[in-house]
Amino acid sequence: RICMTIYNFSAGPAVLPKPVLEIAQSEMLDYKGSGMSVMELSHRSSLFEAIIQDAESLLRELMAIPDNYKVLFLQGGASLQFSMVPLNLAQGKKALYVNTGSWSKKAISAAKALENIEVEVIASSEEQNFTSIPELPETVDQKAAYVHITTNNTIEGTAYAKIPSYGDVPVVADMSSNILANDYKVEDFGVIYAGAQKNIGPAGLTVAIVREDLLNQEAVFAPMLDYALQAKNNSLYNTPPTYAIYIAKLVFEWVKEQGGVAGITAKDREKAQLLYDAIEKSNLFKSPVEKASRSLTNIPFVTGDEALDKAFNQAALVEGFENLTGHRSVGGMRASLYNAFPLEGVEALIAFMEKFEQENGG
Ligand code: PLP
Repeated sequence: RICMTIYNFSAGPAVLPKPVLEIAQSEMLDYKGSGMSVMELSHRSSLFEAIIQDAESLLRELMAIPDNYKVLFLQGGASLQFSMVPLNLAQGKKALYVNTGSWSKKAISAAKALENIEVEVIASSEEQNFTSIPELPETVDQKAAYVHITTNNTIEGTAYAKIPSYGDVPVVADMSSNILANDYKVEDFGVIYAGAQKNIGPAGLTVAIVREDLLNQEAVFAPMLDYALQAKNNSLYNTPPTYAIYIAKLVFEWVKEQGGVAGITAKDREKAQLLYDAIEKSNLFKSPVEKASRSLTNIPFVTGDEALDKAFNQAALVEGFENLTGHRSVGGMRASLYNAFPLEGVEALIAFMEKFEQENGG
């Protein structure tokens, strides 16, 4: 496959902007005349301090993060946040969850595994096989610590059209697969967290945005899991994932050049609309997801015939469409169209789907 164009539809780690990789390549051996790679810089050096500070201020600017929110660069993936959120926010309290798919379920089990925290699932679309976002209650127990939602369900391909609001009870969001790809307002959330490996940068970095009044008053038993301690140390309590933070900074600069989140979201909508229209038009491919709940970033589709799905996935791979196979728990196909995924890749996929349909009696 020498010189063949590859389109990477991976759900994560995902495609990164080419210009970002080119800058990283050009600076790989000698960062700003230091004679060192970013990987070799001390995390206490002035060069790295500038990187982490720029990364934070760019993210604040892109997401319009108010001053009363801390931005934390952590490790452990979004999965560690499944435990950190309840540990920091819900000691001795009740935590409410909306169950919209595999990742929500993992967040719920992680909270349930903790002592001293009561977990209640207030809505679920499990009975509908997670093909939609469930109807949510209008009000919740005002003594609850938070309501946890997964804004975009990476595996099932659903997303919230509207973020719920519950008075004094903050909404905590796992935004791993649509951070920097929506017009949400940070003020509508108490905590936002995301693993970096989709819209931010390399795996290994996790971003958490925490409203200051929600920072834990009492120390969490393990210092690394303590939001307040991480915030007090400006994410430098221990050695942070320095190279991932550097790439994230470059990605944030790239997003800014694309017209910021508004500019990038317009492109994301265009890409998603093209693919959804093609699926609607097709007699072979179908979307398993209810229209009002469809994700812009992860778009599953099926033929309804497992053998045909498999044939499609095999043929797609030969043509250079990488990572199109649906998650092992749902099967079929899934196109993840994160911010760095090019429009040409969507057009090429649609042309290939049309050809496959013609050849397979669609
Ligand atoms: N939450 C969502 C919505 C995800 O898509 C993922 C990973 O794909 C995770 C959580 C888990 O993230 P991590 O692998 O960073 O722990």
